[in-house]
Amino acid sequence: MATPQPKKITSAPDIARETIKQMAMRRVEPTPNNYELIYNEIAGTPQKETLNNAIKKALKQLPNQSTEQANWINRWEKLLKQDNWAGLADILNEGMDASVAHTKQWPDAIRLLLKGWDARRVGIDPARKKETLERVLINYGNDPQLSAKLQNLANSWGANEAGTTELANVGADNNDSVDSEPVAETSKTTSLLQKIDNKISSVMAIGNDETKQFHETFQILQDMLKQSLNHGLIPRLDGYPELREEAYEIAILTEKARKLKDWQFMAKQFRALLVRVELIGANEEGIKRDLLGLLKLLLSNISELVSDDQWLRGQVATVQTIISGPLDRVQIQSAEKSLKEVIYKQGMVKHSLIEAKNAFKTMISTFVDRLKFMADASGSYHEKIEIYSDKLSETDDIIRINELLESLMHDTHAMQSDIMRSREALLHQREEAESSQEKIKKLQEELTQLSEAVRMDQLTGVLNRRGLDDALTTEISRFSRGGGPLTLALLDIDNFKNLNDTYGHHVGDIALKHLANVVKKTIRPTDIVTRLGGEEFVILLPDTNIDEAIITMTRLQRSLTKEYFLGNNERLLITFSAGIALFKKDEEQTALIHRADQAMYLAKKSGKNKVMTEIDLAKLA
Ligand code: GH3
Ligand code: MG
Ligand code: MG
Repeated sequence: MATPQPKKITSAPDIARETIKQMAMRRVEPTPNNYELIYNEIAGTPQKETLNNAIKKALKQLPNQSTEQANWINRWEKLLKQDNWAGLADILNEGMDASVAHTKQWPDAIRLLLKGWDARRVGIDPARKKETLERVLINYGNDPQLSAKLQNLANSWGANEAGTTELANVGADNNDSVDSEPVAETSKTTSLLQKIDNKISSVMAIGNDETKQFHETFQILQDMLKQSLNHGLIPRLDGYPELREEAYEIAILTEKARKLKDWQFMAKQFRALLVRVELIGANEEGIKRDLLGLLKLLLSNISELVSDDQWLRGQVATVQTIISGPLDRVQIQSAEKSLKEVIYKQGMVKHSLIEAKNAFKTMISTFVDRLKFMADASGSYHEKIEIYSDKLSETDDIIRINELLESLMHDTHAMQSDIMRSREALLHQREEAESSQEKIKKLQEELTQLSEAVRMDQLTGVLNRRGLDDALTTEISRFSRGGGPLTLALLDIDNFKNLNDTYGHHVGDIALKHLANVVKKTIRPTDIVTRLGGEEFVILLPDTNIDEAIITMTRLQRSLTKEYFLGNNERLLITFSAGIALFKKDEEQTALIHRADQAMYLAKKSGKNKVMTEIDLAKLA
């Protein structure tokens, strides 16, 4: 309206006249509003904000996301444009109804939800409730129907005893109804969904000033989800490329997803994936169970079949012990190692055994041959005697008789020496057979011993006493070949009897395993840990002097004060007392162990939970 004005008009009638003239010239609609606008312009009075403009401005600032909101704003705009105020009462009335209903609905919904949460209905546990609540919040979080949907949900949990709403009705206009989800999936998704749910609820409850904090929390959650996928789930899907690919895609989606719709899509994919992963898990668990069953069957059959072959007993017992408890990889690997060793040694002994048996067989057959020969020889002897007696009875000629006698003498002599030879051979064979039998017996005993000499301690999975003897022999010969100092530490758990008495033998066993594990984690790979018996352990420290050994044992003490173990659901700690001794050239193994034991005893006497050495011992002497 920047029309130039010829001169300043000041009187009211003139301004009114000029206003009408301008309205005609500018061809504006002759409405009171337009008249007022031009009148003020001519009079030079500042323009007043009209109601019309104020409403227009306000409408622009209102939220305009849902269809309902957009419709409501459209209706206002239409009203303003047409300047038709007849519909005003309708719009205002509707708005008032909605807000009254809205404020009334929420307390009702919350009250019902709380009631529903406490209600008990078969098949609807808190985990399932959380999950269905989360679904409703995701689907209707921004929807004015949210409170109504929540009421439906609470009814389906049994909030209203007379209520007949079924779970499937909740979110009925949503294709993937809540009930179509397998119950088994619930537990897996619950914790994550719960977190998201909590965030959604809190953002509904708090004001905009906390939006920033919500965003940060959301980002942490997003990060956690991504990491769970990348480091938790994906590496476990090694044998399943398809699922792995899907998990990757979801991990990418977690980064890209911005809008609620994206997250809904992703959550759906994620749930579907988890169901499939769970199926694989169940399948693998089943296979493991079946294989274990098969192995148990096989072992019990073997042990019955080979009850005579004692040499197999040790191996069978080792495997049976391992599969009777929860499977432990360290134990399995350690058993495999010692079994391999035993099987190798037994292989060699068995080879000698087979050879000895074959030799025995040969002897027996020679023996039988000889017997046959003797029988033959004595048979022909009888025949010859008969012939001679026949001939003798037929002749009276002394010369002929003499000849006959001479040849008879010759024949019997030959026969006698044959028989003598056979007898000697027989005796010899019998001796050989006896010694061979002896040898076989010894070999068989050796086989049995080898089997029993599996060097692993069944409970803790570390070497046992036999293992310690072997390891010490090896380390001492290494030392004798010019290796570094060899130190031995003997440790004994403090007040172990008390632990057994208070918590039971089972907890005592857990403590022993715990100690063995912490020791294994703390010492160097070249150090050797063995269980001497009961609650006593020996650690061999090659290339280590006494001072270094003290450092190692002190480090072990510190680790034990940090790492508790669970016994009867209580966090328990153990301590030990240790004695350290250094191997002296040419001394007996037992002497070394004895000195360490004495130092350990000194540690006990000085108040336990201490590390003492043979040097401390010498100071006392
Ligand atoms: P100290 O501090 O003086 O060493 O006292 P302690 O109670 O540890 O020693 P003590 O020699 O009085 O008791 C050792 C206990 O260890 C007694 C025995 O029942 C228990 N024990 C031995 N072998 C095992 C085992 O394999 N498992 C369990 N649970 N206990 C065992
Ligand atoms: Mg003891
Ligand atoms: Mg003890």
